[in-house]
Amino acid sequence: MSALDKIREYHPELTALRRDLHAHPELGMGEHRTAEIVARQLEAMGVEVHRGVGGTGVVGVLRGRPGNRAIGLRADMDALPIEEQNDVPYRSGTKGVMHACGHDGHTTMLLGAAKYLAETRNFDGTVHLIFQPGEEGCGGALAMLEDGLFDRFPCDVVFGMHNRPGMPVGEYAISEGPAMAGGAFFDVTVRGKGAHGAHPEAGIDPVIAACHIATAAQTIVSRVVNPADPAVISITKIAGGDAYNVIPETATLAGTARFFSRKVGAQIEEGLKRVVEGVAAGLGCEASLDYRLIFAPTLNAADPTDAYVAAATELVGEGKVTRGKPPSMGSEDFSFMMEKVPGAYILVGNGEGAMPHNPRYMFNDEAIPFGAALYARVVERGLKG
Ligand SMILES: [Zn+2]
Ligand SMILES: [Zn+2]
Repeated sequence: MSALDKIREYHPELTALRRDLHAHPELGMGEHRTAEIVARQLEAMGVEVHRGVGGTGVVGVLRGRPGNRAIGLRADMDALPIEEQNDVPYRSGTKGVMHACGHDGHTTMLLGAAKYLAETRNFDGTVHLIFQPGEEGCGGALAMLEDGLFDRFPCDVVFGMHNRPGMPVGEYAISEGPAMAGGAFFDVTVRGKGAHGAHPEAGIDPVIAACHIATAAQTIVSRVVNPADPAVISITKIAGGDAYNVIPETATLAGTARFFSRKVGAQIEEGLKRVVEGVAAGLGCEASLDYRLIFAPTLNAADPTDAYVAAATELVGEGKVTRGKPPSMGSEDFSFMMEKVPGAYILVGNGEGAMPHNPRYMFNDEAIPFGAALYARVVERGLKG
């Protein structure tokens, strides 16, 4: 029986599990209930379980026949601070929190793979089942790495996946090299000197300086970064002042940067610091920059990409596996794990429906066997002999 057919036998119980997770979403680094369910499910399968890896992370260790190699399979568990607008019996029971990115589905797919692999054990070596907390900008991958993830559970290769609305169920997409952008968040504070709006000569206007900083920041993308390297700087917040006739003391800006290499990320950070401090000084103000790397660029290594494509093609046929998918400017913190161990990250079709982070988004239960079977087959194919 194929892995896909065998996992389809568990589909009803996996669907029930996914819906239970959906009804009980937990924000990043607070996935206590979710992690406990994962741990108990793994224990029931006879998997060795390690709780509390990097906060609420869970790692399962599953051994097949003797073998020296190890593969890491990773899923994320956290939900988002969004009020759900779906009207389903298993809608979120937690106000203002929702599984709007499908991590309920990812967790379920990895548990499905674990169940299959624990029952069949048709591989030589070890599988590390990595359930990470806090993917949504909460630093969950880094927390697990700082807790010794790959020292305690060494892996030769790691595989991750994400559901993709708009792509039919039963299809996959991946590309070697850049898959998702690295991302940083930043805050800028500009300090001037308050005055009456009718008497600018008596003050130093931080609002004007903030406006010039916002404009000049775009020259980092257009004049500093190599045009062949994609980069984005978006100022998404600008604030200052409370009255029509008062020049305020301070103004603030905030935003995000995206890039596909650590080098470009560093160029943006240096450029922003120069623009923020230099433009402010030129206008008589003082300004400071707080720049935080939130996501590393997600770069798919060649061999794991090939392994994913081969396993996916075996499951659904060549026409349903897209290779060479253009990179996305979105980000993913599995990237930090893939900087330590070669890996690949594939998109799994979720069918028609709202995009992730939308209050009407819903993970498609029909996709569960396709994610679970793919995890299972990259293990069986990769840990052979
Ligand atoms: Zn998300
Ligand atoms: Zn996500």
